[in-house]
Amino acid sequence: MHALDQADPLAHYRDLFVSSPEVVAYLDGNSLGRPLTASVERVGAFMTEQWGGRLIRGWDEGWMQQAQTIGDDLGRVVLGAAPGQTTIGDSTTVLLYKLVRAALSDRGDRDEIVIDRDNFPTDRYVLEGVAAELGLTLRWIEPGDVTVDRIPLSKKTALVVLSHVAYRSGYLADVAGITAAVHEAGALVLWDLCHSAGVVPTELDAWGVDIAVGCSYKYLNGGPGAPAFAYVAERHHGLRQPIQGWLGSQQPFEMGQGYEPADGIRRFLSGTPPVIGMLPMRDMVALIEAVGLEAVRAKSVALTSYALELVDELPVEVSTPRDAAQRGSHVTIEHPRFAELMPVLWEQGVIPDFRRPSGIRLGLSPLSTSFAELQLGVEAIGALLEH
Ligand SMILES: *Cc1c(COP(=O)(O)O)cnc(C)c1O
Repeated sequence: MHALDQADPLAHYRDLFVSSPEVVAYLDGNSLGRPLTASVERVGAFMTEQWGGRLIRGWDEGWMQQAQTIGDDLGRVVLGAAPGQTTIGDSTTVLLYKLVRAALSDRGDRDEIVIDRDNFPTDRYVLEGVAAELGLTLRWIEPGDVTVDRIPLSKKTALVVLSHVAYRSGYLADVAGITAAVHEAGALVLWDLCHSAGVVPTELDAWGVDIAVGCSYKYLNGGPGAPAFAYVAERHHGLRQPIQGWLGSQQPFEMGQGYEPADGIRRFLSGTPPVIGMLPMRDMVALIEAVGLEAVRAKSVALTSYALELVDELPVEVSTPRDAAQRGSHVTIEHPRFAELMPVLWEQGVIPDFRRPSGIRLGLSPLSTSFAELQLGVEAIGALLEH
């Protein structure tokens, strides 16, 4: 056993995940987290007992409330959010659209929105679409780490959209500091937490965050296509989102004329909640609660620090910050041959992911990644670079 695994108080949690014997090193938990065996049982039991047994009655017995119930758990354990401000549903992309539009529904005469060129494509594309739709100006932050001084804020700024952890470099932004500066300029900020939720602690309420969205299939292990989450601070519950569906309305089962938005977080929902899709994340949230998010973060820092030590032995460029306080839970390395080597690595059971043109991301999911597999994975990359 690797000495670092032996000394790791969290090492045994790895046994709670479904095993994949042919995988030598799974380094892609930042794209798709591994399933917990508890989730296999939970989904199976839901199908036989809940869906199969309760049938349509299930909607009155908890399914309808589930998005808010799980949302509150996520808020408490992962986000630093008091109850009633977090819900689950849609994809991150669709939630981004709905919440960007909601944030802009009360912007006075401000007509600029700000986003960075290094942000995830879907965030940029959604903003381009909204800007065109509403006749707004997009202000771009040029590539590089997003720090307060690089954000073009003015009296025209309505909304700033940023990622907590940059999907490519792994740079960890200062949410509290940037949020305060954006507020100072009289604008709102929407944080994308896809690459931080479940692995980097956040204090959304304490940091004064307005709105946040994030995936549940990365470090929250919700499974492929699992629905996203939305946080909207209570003071913004008067905002209007554009997809006015019956399940976001005041009295869905009155089936009445004319849309009246529900009070509270439920108004940000639209259609029937993805009940089965949001089950697995329950197990991961419960596990994070049992372990403690601070302990998860501590192991994440240990893993990324060890990854940096290992990749420093290779002829690669590192694009992730060396200061642990400025990085999330993945390490990105660059080499011109990575595009060609990726299929070979996957064939060997070494699974990081590749980002064009030349980046390999080593995604380290603290409760399911061991130091031993990280070492095996980096050594496999090193061996291929020698030939
Ligand atoms: C993974 C990711 C997304 C994914 O959006 P989907 O709608 O779930 O496909 C969005 N934003 C960021 C920053 C991501 O890392």
